[in-house]
Amino acid sequence: MELHNSFNQAVFIRKNLKSGHFFYSLLLLLFVFNTLFACGLTKEKPFRVLLITGGCCHNYKFQTQVLKDALAKYQKADWTVVSEGGTATKAILPLFNDSNWAKGYDVVIHNECFADTQDSEYIKKITQVHFAGVPAVVIHCAMHTYRSAKTDDWREFLGVSSYKHDHQSLYPVKKAEGKHPIMNKFPDNWISPKDELYIIEKTGANTKILATSVSEINGEIHPVIWTNQYGKARVFGTTFGHSDDTFRDTVFTDLLVRGILWAANK
Ligand SMILES: [Zn+2]
Repeated sequence: MELHNSFNQAVFIRKNLKSGHFFYSLLLLLFVFNTLFACGLTKEKPFRVLLITGGCCHNYKFQTQVLKDALAKYQKADWTVVSEGGTATKAILPLFNDSNWAKGYDVVIHNECFADTQDSEYIKKITQVHFAGVPAVVIHCAMHTYRSAKTDDWREFLGVSSYKHDHQSLYPVKKAEGKHPIMNKFPDNWISPKDELYIIEKTGANTKILATSVSEINGEIHPVIWTNQYGKARVFGTTFGHSDDTFRDTVFTDLLVRGILWAANK
């Protein structure tokens, strides 16, 4: 119906142009564009998020809702949540059998925990899609997911290698890149809620460390927030995210939101 109206308006504009009523014609032209806009022809694409979650040791249901609510404050989004594999440390998710598993998503969030899955062909099905350009956010136990694997594909994707963590404590966080868009609103002396300090053994060539914390056991410094460039994909990561208290802290959830938007180049 709107298009029919638009056609009539166009005819009217032509008549007006002939009779010299240029100003009124211009107004009508604006009206026609407005109608087209209302028809959805220039409608913005929704921001699509795929969250992979589940596995051992954490309250994923709660974390998922917190993530959705936190992003909603800044960005309208369509979420797909894949929460499979139970609470074990090992799982093969059917999702990744489809080579187009990430098609159409603006960003994929990995918040899963399957440390003992080792199948290198399976892991490659995940990483090669990211390498081709699908942005990612990796949270906490994603860093220990596939840690039993012999191949480094997953670790290269993450930008860090980690196999164990220190005890739960309140860890002070020191910014390394305060001007980075992910970090410029991050407080200078933030102390994590009760969380685990992941021991980072190696960082990749394209890893940029954004913040560090320190072991209470031996004083070693470890990256806790970073970015990675993996093939064509931006990756944002943090090893925090163990406890519900961490997910209740808006410093942490705002950090995740900035990481999600940065990874998706928003
Ligand atoms: Zn944990």
